[in-house]
Amino acid sequence: MPLTDIQIRIQAACKKAGRTPSDVELIAVSKVQPLDRVEAVLKEGHKVFGENRVQEAAGKWPDFKSRYDGISLHLLGPLQSNKARQAMDLFDTIHSLDRIKLANAIARLAQEIGHCPELFIQVNTGEEPQKAGILPAETDTFVAQARALDLPIKGLMCIPPAEETPSLHFSLLRKLAERNGLQGLSMGMSADFEQAIAFGATHIRVGSAIFGERVKPAG
Ligand SMILES: *Cc1c(COP(=O)(O)O)cnc(C)c1O
Repeated sequence: MPLTDIQIRIQAACKKAGRTPSDVELIAVSKVQPLDRVEAVLKEGHKVFGENRVQEAAGKWPDFKSRYDGISLHLLGPLQSNKARQAMDLFDTIHSLDRIKLANAIARLAQEIGHCPELFIQVNTGEEPQKAGILPAETDTFVAQARALDLPIKGLMCIPPAEETPSLHFSLLRKLAERNGLQGLSMGMSADFEQAIAFGATHIRVGSAIFGERVKPAG
């Protein structure tokens, strides 16, 4: 679907919710997409992209960044502590802060390198054992711990369980953010970004609706 169609849908969802479109950041999720499709979106003037893996992003974005100004990169996938430095050099925002060990590593590196990406804390709203994220009941404590480390916590992020109504998870995430005084809500993907906007999303992560279905790499 052309980028302009997505933007029109965002505008319509904002209007319905009484929100301002400029308060919703569209992150174009370019993981596993052919480079020519990504470049086509860059040529349309879009600047904000999301990736799931540090390694994959490191392979494609330095070249794009050298040729296009003002690119903002968001890491959406799990981050190993030993890749934190590379991630902090490459990404402007990390959406997957999900454990204290990683918070400590990022805080230490931020001191050392003198800058830190904005951070979202990933919350496992569905309490799924296989999924990353802080449990809802532990979120207040974790936010306090992250703040005590002086980390720039922008907000909360969630990936609702595939088989559940996403709106329940969006409203839970908003409640958790509100009671912790956090403005950012990273929620909503291709299938449900309009609902997420209705529940207050500030960052929507849209991949396949923009770029087409992902061709899964082997393995
Ligand atoms: C892949 C991915 C997306 C985008 O998913 P689509 O359904 O293609 O829009 C959003 N968020 C995260 C964390 C992802 O891994």
